[in-house]
Amino acid sequence: MNRVLVRSPAWQRVARRIGREAGWYRGLISPSRIGGGFSFVTPPGVELARMRNEEKMTELLYYDDAYLREFDATVAAMQKKDGMLRVALDRTAFYPGGGGQPNDIGWLTTASRRLSVSKAKREGDQVWHTLSGTDGESISIARGQKVHAELDWTRRYALMRTHTAMHILCGVVWRDYGASVTGGNMEPGKGRMDFAFAAMSRELVTEIEEKCNAEIAAARPVTSRVLPRQEAFQIPDLIRTKINLLPKQIPQVRTVELEGLDLQADGGTHTRNTSEVEKMRVVDYRSKGAINKRIYVEIGESEG
Ligand SMILES: [Zn+2]
Repeated sequence: MNRVLVRSPAWQRVARRIGREAGWYRGLISPSRIGGGFSFVTPPGVELARMRNEEKMTELLYYDDAYLREFDATVAAMQKKDGMLRVALDRTAFYPGGGGQPNDIGWLTTASRRLSVSKAKREGDQVWHTLSGTDGESISIARGQKVHAELDWTRRYALMRTHTAMHILCGVVWRDYGASVTGGNMEPGKGRMDFAFAAMSRELVTEIEEKCNAEIAAARPVTSRVLPRQEAFQIPDLIRTKINLLPKQIPQVRTVELEGLDLQADGGTHTRNTSEVEKMRVVDYRSKGAINKRIYVEIGESEG
């Protein structure tokens, strides 16, 4: 048996998780407080390198629960970047951007004050949170410190509904017209998608809008799963999208499914049901060449 000293709470969590998976974890053995740490007793050959590596990973809470608006976390690292202070947390519900969905913003509360999070960005396995209004100020925040974090939920929920609307659009266009997506982008409440869709016309756009709203009314459940890479590669729907572009070193693939309509490899945040989108409007469309056509959509009732 080895005795492994584990100092940080983040590392203790990782040790417990890996230990349970590997079947050697038996609970904390004598919390001998050496330098504020705890010691674990492990069998020989336990993957210390893996533990050290995972210590630097931010746990992505939005993967399991897109509706999580606030959470507690520990500061794992901090640095100055472009004159702004930013922190990496051991866990986060802030979506760091990607797949056309912009990053979340919100707030971080320390023991002494509430700070604005103006940006979240993923770098490697960590998510960094940029704290605004901290230029030239002395902020008492340090590695190992506990913080409470809140998302700007109005913005995030609008993005979840918009993102789900994008799946409805691309599911309908693929199912009924056989046109695949070539790109897309979104903001809270509105977005655009590009399709390889030579035959698109004004009449078709009106028809597509009706069909999208029928899928909202159908109240389809939206579910996500994490699959081993090889298993994901057996699913025809995923192969048609860009799953083959995923880096080879990613061992697992997260999938998002609008049941009976659309299935994609996807790391973003969505509503639990298509009904939460409420209403979709196709507000414009544009030809980007003989083949490529762009469709603009908004969610909710028209304000005009
Ligand atoms: Zn998605």
